[in-house]
Amino acid sequence: MIRRIDLRGQDMTRTQLLGVLPRPEIGVDEAVQAVTPILADVRARGAAALRDLSERLDGVRPEHLRVPASALEAALAGVDRQVRAGLEEAIRRVRAVHAAQVPAEHSTQLAPGAVVRQRWVPVQRVGLYVPGGRAVYPSSVIMNVVAAQEAGVPGLAVASPPQKDSGGLPHPTILAACALLGVDEVYAVGGAQAVGMFAYGAQGSEPQDGDVLCEPVDVVTGPGNVYVTAAKRLVRGVVGIDAEAGPTEIAVLADGTADPGHVALDLISQAEHDPMAASVLVTPSVELAGAVEARLSDLVSSTKHSARVMQALGGPQSAVVLVDDLEQGLAVVDAYGAEHLEIQTEGAAALAERVRSAGAIFVGPWSPVSLGDYMAGSNHVLPTGGSAHFSSGLGVHAYLKSVQVVEYTRDALGELAERIVAVANDEDLPAHGEAVRGRFV
Ligand code: NAD
Repeated sequence: MIRRIDLRGQDMTRTQLLGVLPRPEIGVDEAVQAVTPILADVRARGAAALRDLSERLDGVRPEHLRVPASALEAALAGVDRQVRAGLEEAIRRVRAVHAAQVPAEHSTQLAPGAVVRQRWVPVQRVGLYVPGGRAVYPSSVIMNVVAAQEAGVPGLAVASPPQKDSGGLPHPTILAACALLGVDEVYAVGGAQAVGMFAYGAQGSEPQDGDVLCEPVDVVTGPGNVYVTAAKRLVRGVVGIDAEAGPTEIAVLADGTADPGHVALDLISQAEHDPMAASVLVTPSVELAGAVEARLSDLVSSTKHSARVMQALGGPQSAVVLVDDLEQGLAVVDAYGAEHLEIQTEGAAALAERVRSAGAIFVGPWSPVSLGDYMAGSNHVLPTGGSAHFSSGLGVHAYLKSVQVVEYTRDALGELAERIVAVANDEDLPAHGEAVRGRFV
């Protein structure tokens, strides 16, 4: 069901490894073509396009694109008691971690009267995407909203796909999570069209929309499938984005000490997200590889979403990768740059410290990815497709801008005047030098 890639005895560079490691057949590049006309339609026709696209892509034509306050209140009143307790625990833990991320203001005195200060300023308005195609993700409401709130963003809007069996509104637990967090601007809009709505704003097309359905935002964050990810790539520059947080990936670096049952359960848990999800085991132990493959075969048919899981595990994006030893294993997982990396080996904590590229690292046998998906306190919106090489998981930084504040006194500027003039003249920008010298004549 899952293919093997045997790298034993091969001394490969990072570039060579990237050429042989598993990746999905359809990536963000391909999905860009599918979503380009969707974004153009939303930009041109606003709410009318959003309704048409929902009908085509979600199978339902929402009457209310903006979720009425009464529906948010009803969802919170109706949410299961234990689910609510789970959401509240997740909010507590995620809030504690994100509150600790808020950076301090730095002030550097370079000489008497010469000060450069770095301020952190939250963006004004953000669009938070919460997936809801194959599965629904109230947990993603928490990951987006709590991070934005702790950054101090004043304007928060959430969008999630309309559901056929919820009367064209997002899933009720998603609405309950929004209400729990005090978010009242919620849209029944999914996929690339939601990203377009946030980036360009949208005019209303029905009386219940008002003249302006949605004002544009400064930053769009949140996870989603390959279409959502492609749309975020396309609007980057019009707005800021967090990272490309697309179809889920799990890589497990494990040795002979790992429990094959646990490894198999974790590989399946992430394959459950999407037929395009990637599950990768990297191990020097042929015995563990065989035992995990056997467990996968036993477990897959009885798991609820077995068709999806089988597609994900059997796809070109998933594999069991055999390596000579944990050193080579480390090079492989670093080159892969997984969204989620589990390390289930002897000395896991020390190995984890040496990893340079992963969205999040889960250390040891008692820190499965499912813990991080819901309530470890870490954020589950994480970079995929190798983008962990250059970007980070969602956190308060995604919503903050740094502004440098420069304040020099007359004497402090005077100290530098001749040196500034010399450099400015060397750049053939003499007016720059005059702007300094002219203050002292
Ligand atoms: P989703 O909300 O991301 O996508 C559903 C939307 O996709 C629909 O509303 C529809 O508009 C659009 N769509 C579907 N088919 C399309 C097509 N052919 N062309 C254009 N648009 C189309 O929900 P989902 O599909 O369940 O996917 C959720 C994804 O989020 C999964 O891939 C999961 O792995 C991923 N995820 C990632 C992270 C992360 O941080 N990387 C976290 C959680 C979930």
